Amino acid sequence: MRSEFIRPCSGGIAIITNNVPNPSDLSIIEKYFKSVEGINSNDIPSPRLPQSKSYLKITGLPYLRADGNKITSENVIEFMKHIDLFEDISLATKPRIIKASPKSDMAIIWFDIWDTQNGSKAKLLINHSFNLGRHIATVRATNMNPGVSQCHNCWKWGHSTYSCRAHGSQCQKCNGPHKLEHHRDLAWCCKANPKLNPPRLETAQGLPCPHSFKCINCKGDHMADDYKCPFWRNRFNKDWHLKKAQEARETRANSIRLAIGGRKS
Ligand SMILES: [Zn+2]
Ligand SMILES: [Zn+2]
Ligand SMILES: [Zn+2]
Ligand SMILES: [Zn+2]
Repeated sequence: MRSEFIRPCSGGIAIITNNVPNPSDLSIIEKYFKSVEGINSNDIPSPRLPQSKSYLKITGLPYLRADGNKITSENVIEFMKHIDLFEDISLATKPRIIKASPKSDMAIIWFDIWDTQNGSKAKLLINHSFNLGRHIATVRATNMNPGVSQCHNCWKWGHSTYSCRAHGSQCQKCNGPHKLEHHRDLAWCCKANPKLNPPRLETAQGLPCPHSFKCINCKGDHMADDYKCPFWRNRFNKDWHLKKAQEARETRANSIRLAIGGRKS
């Protein structure tokens, strides 16, 4: 992973990276900032991924380039670098391009950006136009998220953070009732327990939790928001997610049936 640039943003700094950082990337960033001379390392909060994504689309551009080939995600990323309107945004995923309609020669370009919770970055783009060659393109808001969303409150898939019905935040590492940045201080696994054999030592202040938990979605050996998770890799595959949700419902129904059956006998 590479940091593309670093700039101040409301209440902190934003680090733009060429990829979605995983927890160990985040801890490298944290260690770096804590080691800067003249800085009180307690003043440095844990880095976290931006809280929200905004979903946008670009209309008004042709589906085929001048050379007759289809416009690609790379073309879109490239022209965005040269247009002032997109100067301050960071793409959350590769842009996706479809034909405006089957017989149309125009494209619709879907793209997601990292945004603040209230979507302030999207607001600066929506309904703004820009020139590309002889074309005038416009950025539009879209409610249609072509992917499946992951809740940043309970870390389950299929609903947005705003519509989560869980009470309070859950930790994407241990599923405990706290935010990840408070995991070290609140989770049982990082507390000393002299009664255990061998006794468990407290995790040193400032170090990430070394304990492993199973992902709440796939039971794999990673955090619930890890890009290695099959749920994340299939985030644009709605059928895959529907099938998984159906399987989870069946497993739940079965275990309830077993529990009721067990009580009767
Ligand atoms: Zn939720
Ligand atoms: Zn936790
Ligand atoms: Zn721990
Ligand atoms: Zn997983």
